[in-house]
Amino acid sequence: SGKKSGEGGSRILVFVRLRPMGKKEKEAGARSCVRIENKRDVYLTEFVNENDYLRLKRLRGRHFTFDASFPESTSQLEVYSETTAELVEAVLQGRNGSVFCYGATGAGKTHTMLGTVENPGVMVLAIKDLFNKITQRSFDGDHVVHLSYLEVYNETVRDLLAPGRPLVLREDKQGIVASGLTQYKAYSTDEVMSLLQQGNHNRTTEPTRANATSSRSHAILQVIIEYRMKDASDNIVKRIGKLSLIDLAGSERALATDQRTLRSFEGANINRSLLALSSCINALVEGKKHIPYRNSKLTQLLKDSLSGACNTVMIANVSPSNLSFGETQNTLHWADRAKEI
Ligand code: ADP
Ligand code: MG
Repeated sequence: SGKKSGEGGSRILVFVRLRPMGKKEKEAGARSCVRIENKRDVYLTEFVNENDYLRLKRLRGRHFTFDASFPESTSQLEVYSETTAELVEAVLQGRNGSVFCYGATGAGKTHTMLGTVENPGVMVLAIKDLFNKITQRSFDGDHVVHLSYLEVYNETVRDLLAPGRPLVLREDKQGIVASGLTQYKAYSTDEVMSLLQQGNHNRTTEPTRANATSSRSHAILQVIIEYRMKDASDNIVKRIGKLSLIDLAGSERALATDQRTLRSFEGANINRSLLALSSCINALVEGKKHIPYRNSKLTQLLKDSLSGACNTVMIANVSPSNLSFGETQNTLHWADRAKEI
């Protein structure tokens, strides 16, 4: 499904996931303003005062279409299978791939990425699938899987598997790496869920709300798969693939899609990394030669996941509630733009 590979062998697939209406939203009398049809069309309706003719005329309802769109009832496994399963296969072949969850706080990013013990998300399902595939192929060579889980918060990089001092980014022949980052050697899926849950607890919390993960924290799970085998003449054949799974910070305060707005936001030091990601995506959309990866920690870390021969998946998460209309509209616009890469 989806787009053909571009010239550099890279492509981006863009998906939308609508979450069910929450209890609080129902209690607040929210109405659903998002409708998904044909597994790819998204209709957004704004409810306006019927006397407001000008607004009514201008708004009517908006339509977007994506590689696939997932209605409220979609299971975690369906989301995984349609968005990420192919990437896991590509990574096993030695390519790089990345999956981003984008959207406002409360839209369902962490649910999609991490999920719960009963209902694991993309991160866990990807690793499970990876181990199954490796087991099936064990006769053909050795695979070693390393995990790292890190956070970018306020332009500081931290190791979520070994909380402590901030990590320094440096450039080596593999690209930009976080110095001293834990590379956890993983052997089975069972250990991974608790590891990731623990890591998620280590994310920076909002100073004003105890235990609530900061809406400004980006979490990046990197899975490195190293494969080795001896060929017929006893030469070692080696390949390395990297899968990055990213639970982005809430997009509500960083929705600029043009350079001018981006610059005016920058002074306010809102979320440099998310803005920089938008800038890089804009530059990639416009086919620019210079892509400003250096502008933030997040884009430095993800440089090799956005450029060159890699596959990128964006999952835009939205709430159905008309009370979140503005955020949903911005998220859909951003996702629509990302499609053009
Ligand atoms: P975000 O990480 O974008 O801030 P969360 O993933 O924490 O949002 O989701 C907000 C709330 O909605 C959580 O209570 C979560 O369990 C619930 N939720 C999100 N997506 C779904 C879904 N697809 N099905 C059921 N509940 C969901
Ligand atoms: Mg979250």
